[in-house]
Amino acid sequence: MSFQDLGLSDKVVQAVETSGYTTPTPIQAEAIPHALKGRDILGIAQTGTGKTAAFTLPMLSRLEQGRARARMPRTLILEPTRELAAQVEEAFIKYGANHKLNVALLIGGVAFGEQETKIMRGVDVLIATPGRLLDFFERGKLLLTGIEILVIDEADRMLDMGFIPDIEKICKLVPFTRQTLFFSATMPPEITRITEQFLQNPIRIEI
Ligand code: AMP
Repeated sequence: MSFQDLGLSDKVVQAVETSGYTTPTPIQAEAIPHALKGRDILGIAQTGTGKTAAFTLPMLSRLEQGRARARMPRTLILEPTRELAAQVEEAFIKYGANHKLNVALLIGGVAFGEQETKIMRGVDVLIATPGRLLDFFERGKLLLTGIEILVIDEADRMLDMGFIPDIEKICKLVPFTRQTLFFSATMPPEITRITEQFLQNPIRIEI
């Protein structure tokens, strides 16, 4: 099986080949075709399984249609830490090398003004930690009504860090018709409850 067989666009396939990857990992092979069709995904997978590309690649393919508007990001990826958010940004830069997409980070420790300027210009992919995202939203600097795809990554770490109330708030602020891609290494009851509340008929993939 190749990346092309999964239904990804030529631009994405070419960028993946440049990265030196030839074969999709199991989570990529299972998740990508469904994600491209717009299905919600519940991926139970650890870091190191290739789960970042499992959501990044189909998102890039889907983002080729349409364009970003000021203050209205098109996709939102929630990460528990700044370091993970920065790694996901790197993945978008690498796999999105053939795309002209605007990617922005919204994390603590970076000046507000700089982040606001980027968001004002229009962002295709916003990668954020939950607290900073809500802070921006509550200051009226950001609209969440344009979100087409929501990614919640490392959900069990979000739980350990006390972010579940923030996640619930954010899930209620994005449009009901969005696609949701949800990843967790383990499924404690609190995480199962969140998936039942906020995912719609998801494809469950356990690696
Ligand atoms: P992740 O689980 O997303 O943190 O990815 C773990 C590592 O696997 C990262 O260093 C990726 O660059 C690498 N990787 C992702 N997909 C593939 C693939 N299909 N073939 C080889 N390496 C990969």
